[in-house]
Amino acid sequence: MNQLTDISTVGEYDVVVCGAGPAGIGAAIAAARGGASTLLVEQLYHVGGMGTATPVNTWCDTHGGTIFDELEQRVDALGQASRRFNPKGHTYPRGRVTLRGATVAMVALKMLRDAGVEVMFGATAARPLVEASQVKGVFIANRAGIFLLRAHTVIDCTADAMVAAGAGAQCLMGDPEDGRIMHVNFMFSIGGIDTDKYEQQKPDDAELIEMIRAAHADGRLHAPKGVFRPAPEVFPYHPPEQVLVTHSWEIEKVDCSDPQAVNDTLVDCQLRALEVIEFLRQCLPGHEQCFVSRFWEILGTRESRRIVGNYMVTRADVLTGAKFDDGIAQACFFIDFHDSPPGVSIPYTLEYKQKNIPPPGEWYEIPYRCLVPESVRGLLVAGRCICCDRSALASLRVMPTCMFLGQAAGTAAAMAAKQGIRVDEIDGAAVKQALGGESWSYM
Ligand SMILES: Cc1cc2nc3c(=O)[nH]c(=O)nc-3n(C[C@H](O)[C@H](O)[C@H](O)COP(=O)(O)OP(=O)(O)OC[C@H]3O[C@@H](n4cnc5c(N)ncnc54)[C@H](O)[C@@H]3O)c2cc1C
Repeated sequence: MNQLTDISTVGEYDVVVCGAGPAGIGAAIAAARGGASTLLVEQLYHVGGMGTATPVNTWCDTHGGTIFDELEQRVDALGQASRRFNPKGHTYPRGRVTLRGATVAMVALKMLRDAGVEVMFGATAARPLVEASQVKGVFIANRAGIFLLRAHTVIDCTADAMVAAGAGAQCLMGDPEDGRIMHVNFMFSIGGIDTDKYEQQKPDDAELIEMIRAAHADGRLHAPKGVFRPAPEVFPYHPPEQVLVTHSWEIEKVDCSDPQAVNDTLVDCQLRALEVIEFLRQCLPGHEQCFVSRFWEILGTRESRRIVGNYMVTRADVLTGAKFDDGIAQACFFIDFHDSPPGVSIPYTLEYKQKNIPPPGEWYEIPYRCLVPESVRGLLVAGRCICCDRSALASLRVMPTCMFLGQAAGTAAAMAAKQGIRVDEIDGAAVKQALGGESWSYM
């Protein structure tokens, strides 16, 4: 497994965090603030993951932990946060918030550096160094080549459990019965729209769906595995700027742990974007001069690997508002599946949401054991690839929860470094206590 061991070691840290999305930011800041020497490795050239590399800038209505609260306050102080709001049927009293992606990237980077985190951009965690089932570091690939970073603890925040899978941790993916995986989205933004004309003359949803269906039927639009989803209303930027008009292809059954599948999807979608522009120019009022202004950097992935850990959060835990002695993150977002067949809309009625959320005024907790792989030591996993069933994933995958999970992982890793023990030996109840979990409330 570790043929790369003759490669030179360029650093040794208490904690190496792989992936700088919401989970990775939370993990690295918490580890460094806890006194651990911490390095954050990110394959892109900025932090924030989905929250900054795509127009997914709305942090859903649920708890995010104190690092998220601080990030939000700092972004707000710069005038780049929306007022918190709730879509119809959503009940978390604080609501959700839209934070401008580029501002999040800068502010989070400052928080990381102020905490003492070293940040390494353009660096891919290629494979863990594993000795006797214990992760001892990570092989990193960047433009200088391949090298080894040693670590007391590695935290896998890659969203796809890249490090855990490389270390031999057992992972699950998709629906065990029919193999369904939540849809991925390829997102792109368009410019050149006469928005006044569009607003005055826009078709209603049924007309739009019919136009898309007809365009597929007569060969003007091709989407072998998915549907084109015009979504100008989905990602509204906060005032005073205009709406960022973003469309996407929503595609079924892409295994995002498979680089070939991701590659094929991106090639296909980028080619299809030309067809979409032609379709929009012909069919939508105000779109006669439109153009693609930006492809977003990463394929929007809702579901890939989930590790098999020491506990699996379940649908029942979500729906009953389960609490645990080692509950290290709280969450209350509804079970938001995106895996219905193309063209079939998701049944997000008020009734659906009321049935698929913790009881009113309640939250569920995520045990520390879900971050600890069953069969690998010295490794924690945070973000959407923790140990959970698919229903729980559909709730906990949102960005505030991922940051909360990262904060817990970083806190535990710093405790392990201080005590000279492995993260899998840490008492989850002590992590909960360090996070103030004894006095958590719904708000
Ligand atoms: C279309 C879509 C819409 C969504 N809408 C919302 C929404 O409105 N609100 C909300 O709260 N959530 C939303 N989500 C969910 C949310 O965006 C993700 O589940 C969440 O960002 C996951 O956080 P994460 O930190 O686990 O991973 P990510 O945000 O995916 O971050 C992972 C990071 O790791 C890096 N990385 C990966 N592999 C490596 C490696 N080997 N080496 C180094 N770096 C690596 C990546 O570049 C990335 O920066 C949406 C998701 C999708 C797909």
